[in-house]
Amino acid sequence: MTFDIAIIGGGFAGLTAANHAALSGLKSVVFEAGGGEHYMCNSRVATGALHVAFRSPEDPADELYESIMAGTDGTAHPDITRSLAASAQATIDWMRDEGCDFIQHPRRSYGLPMMAPGREMRAGLDWENSGPNLFLKALAEKLAGRGGELRRGTRVAALEIDAGSVSGVRLESGEPVSARAVVIADGGFQADLDQIGQHITNAPDKIRQRNTQTGRGDGLRMAINVGAATVGLDKFYGHVLSRDALTSEKLWPYPQVDVICAKGIVVTPEGARFADEGQGGIYMANCIASLDDPLSATAVFDRTVWEDAKETDIVPPNPSLAENGGTVLQADALEDLAALAGIDSTGLVRTVEDFNGLIRAGSSPALDPARTTLTYPAHTIDKPPFYAIPLCAGITVTSGGLAVDGSARVLSKTGKPISGLYAAGSVVGGLEGGPRAGYVGGLIKAFGIGRIAGRTAAADMAV
Ligand SMILES: Cc1cc2nc3c(=O)[nH]c(=O)nc-3n(C[C@H](O)[C@H](O)[C@H](O)COP(=O)(O)OP(=O)(O)OC[C@H]3O[C@@H](n4cnc5c(N)ncnc54)[C@H](O)[C@@H]3O)c2cc1C
Repeated sequence: MTFDIAIIGGGFAGLTAANHAALSGLKSVVFEAGGGEHYMCNSRVATGALHVAFRSPEDPADELYESIMAGTDGTAHPDITRSLAASAQATIDWMRDEGCDFIQHPRRSYGLPMMAPGREMRAGLDWENSGPNLFLKALAEKLAGRGGELRRGTRVAALEIDAGSVSGVRLESGEPVSARAVVIADGGFQADLDQIGQHITNAPDKIRQRNTQTGRGDGLRMAINVGAATVGLDKFYGHVLSRDALTSEKLWPYPQVDVICAKGIVVTPEGARFADEGQGGIYMANCIASLDDPLSATAVFDRTVWEDAKETDIVPPNPSLAENGGTVLQADALEDLAALAGIDSTGLVRTVEDFNGLIRAGSSPALDPARTTLTYPAHTIDKPPFYAIPLCAGITVTSGGLAVDGSARVLSKTGKPISGLYAAGSVVGGLEGGPRAGYVGGLIKAFGIGRIAGRTAAADMAV
């Protein structure tokens, strides 16, 4: 088997790179581990909100760049950040040209484009009639029309190297494939419990896989084996879920408990806060995952927040959480709630008193840990009944991954590109993470860097 370019993974990143390579005249093949017409991948089940660090991709490029840098506290790598921001408009234009329609995000206040048709927005997974599933199919058909191939049920095991350049891949079957360029687009390492155990949590089995479990870290492993550098492996994009999501398919990816956590408090069994809830759900999911016991966090709040939860989030937790079997504990006194939730009563009452006092005084930064209120104002916990929701961290996709240059070329540990090797989508690091787990957007990483990788590989080959 001989190709110009071999792409590992048939999600949006891989199919976008493959289509761009095929449009440039390259003989392109995508190897996809999943079998069947509807092989699972995160792209297929994505909600479809296309954003760059929660900004519209059509906002000015310099503002997008600043937003990524702000969200990652300056830890994003400038070259790939600049390229992604500068090409966001061209990326969305290309998607439109390829037949992707957009609607307004159902939460109008977000002001973000969403791939049409929108998913139903109910508890549990629904993807069959969603824009992402339909566009994934369309990209596979377009690739075939452009002379490229998508080989399903074919897992890549390793990269082949010849005289310092990547010269192809080796399939799991042992078969070698020669290619002048290889794009790794395998979707990240969130479903590899060993790797997340090494970098993200000491209890990987206590984290809810809020994804299709197809990102098994193959790409990271094979690139490291040929000398690739990695960046920011310690953070992930995810959300706070009901602890019952660990055993129920109806409680992931939605409803999320992010906004409830951000308005109330999240405590340990001792009744103590352990993180700044005001940073939002992605940050809190990371903090929960890094607890010694990630199944020891509980959200505590009052009637006001529970009433608000009929409106908050795209699948409001009130009433969808309890309706789908999620635990929502309730009591008229904090002491009784503590007993129901297995939390130390004295500790919880003290924490709530301190919290209420400093929130009323407008001094939330004096709390320990501090409580920011810029994005999510804190609500005092004083209107019974009081509520508690046992939590778990849901990991959607890893934030860190392979270090790349501004043109999606994979970098070696010496900082030089590894000849013939490119990366796209969730396997790419250097755009997300940092101390507050900044998130740029899985879809823009897939479409935007997929486009850059396919075009760069073609240009490099033409030289
Ligand atoms: C429920 C959910 C909702 C989401 N909603 C949004 C959203 O609204 N907006 C947003 O920006 N992001 C969202 N995301 C994230 C986004 O979907 C992903 O980050 C993005 O689709 C990743 O694309 P990808 O091509 O890199 O990876 P994937 O789509 O995961 O594709 C990778 C493919 O590689 C294949 N593969 C893996 N290993 C191998 C191997 N060794 N050989 C061959 N093939 C291999 C896998 O089988 C898979 O098909 C969501 C994710 C989930 C799970």
